[in-house]
Amino acid sequence: MKILVINCGSSSLKYQLINMEDESVLCKGLVERIGIEGSKLTHKINGEKYVVEEEMKDHKKALKLVLDQILDKDHGAIKDLKEISAVGHRVVHGGESFNDSVVVDKKVMAAIKECISLAPLHNPANIMGIEAIEELMPGVKNVAVFDTAFHQTMPKENYLYAIPYEYYEKYSIRRYGFHGTSHNFVSKRAAEILGKTREDLRIVTCHLGNGSSMAAIDHGKVVDTSMGLTPLEGVCMGTRSGDMDPAIIPFLMEKENLTASDINNILNKKSGVLAISGVSSDFRDIEEQQDSNERCKIALTQFANRVRKYIGSYATLMNGVDVIVFTAGVGENSASMRSEILSKLEFLGIKVDEDKNNVRGEETIISTEDSKVVAMVIPTNEELMIARDTERLTK
Ligand code: AMP
Repeated sequence: MKILVINCGSSSLKYQLINMEDESVLCKGLVERIGIEGSKLTHKINGEKYVVEEEMKDHKKALKLVLDQILDKDHGAIKDLKEISAVGHRVVHGGESFNDSVVVDKKVMAAIKECISLAPLHNPANIMGIEAIEELMPGVKNVAVFDTAFHQTMPKENYLYAIPYEYYEKYSIRRYGFHGTSHNFVSKRAAEILGKTREDLRIVTCHLGNGSSMAAIDHGKVVDTSMGLTPLEGVCMGTRSGDMDPAIIPFLMEKENLTASDINNILNKKSGVLAISGVSSDFRDIEEQQDSNERCKIALTQFANRVRKYIGSYATLMNGVDVIVFTAGVGENSASMRSEILSKLEFLGIKVDEDKNNVRGEETIISTEDSKVVAMVIPTNEELMIARDTERLTK
């Protein structure tokens, strides 16, 4: 069974064709600048790269060119689109309607459209991707895999904000959480590596990348996660502020004469480690300058402290923690960041083996054998998780 995985952003699109027999990636690629001058498709197969520069005015045109690449007689991966059994789509927001992935039909599309107000930048692009595949590959089953679904097990006391209840009822304002596919994948994998099931364990997953989020997974169920109604809440990130006093918002709006859209832009695009370091949103750049630039050092220490505070608070929610998992760009690659985060958690029984921690992007247990809590690095693979769900629901 071959599954095509599609992840549509507002002006970009990532794809992978996966052979489910051995879960290998047959080909993959990226389309950039959809609807903007200079559209570009980069297709990768067997370590080779093929670039198509052609105007792509919308997602349908982009997907048409993607399918052409997949079918290309020289650098394609299949001969006939019929070889693709189903298509899995990443959908950012499923609101309260979805606690699992789902085969797309008219009702599902209507529910995804209803969530547009909760994710105005993401859901419309995800919808365009599904509609384009419906047109280009009529009859094929589409599966929607939601970033929010895995977090739907949170109890009400953890997902409600302490603001007038009517706003939850009127506008569905509550914590939803994101990166659910990644938290799901790495927590499952952690249990597998330890020869246990998630139901046996209390796990804290740290998805630390350009966007970062944490999740507390208590015996298989997410009980809390750091991102909220939107991906702005939680630990500070590349360009997002994360948690802060909400009163700063009206204060700044008044002082600087800002609109709601201005402040949204500042908190999402001009804050986080970019703002504190004054150098970059990329952790590699900041790590490089940390010895010579005090603000870089502050940005990194602040990030580590905030992640550690979440680990501590999640341990209190679950009456302890058995496993801590690091994943995504920073979590998988930065040994120094992992070391700093775990440094003051000895009281929880965490002991890091610095030799084992000196690893990049590989599944590794980084705690010592006598550590009461297992700390590990697990590279995330959201595309594979989407493909597995798509197979499970369409087989
Ligand atoms: P992601 O959003 O998961 O793609 O992660 C992107 C982030 O990972 C960027 O901020 C990168 O700087 C960071 N990253 C990637 N490799 C490393 C590394 N070797 N050390 C520190 N940060 C890294």
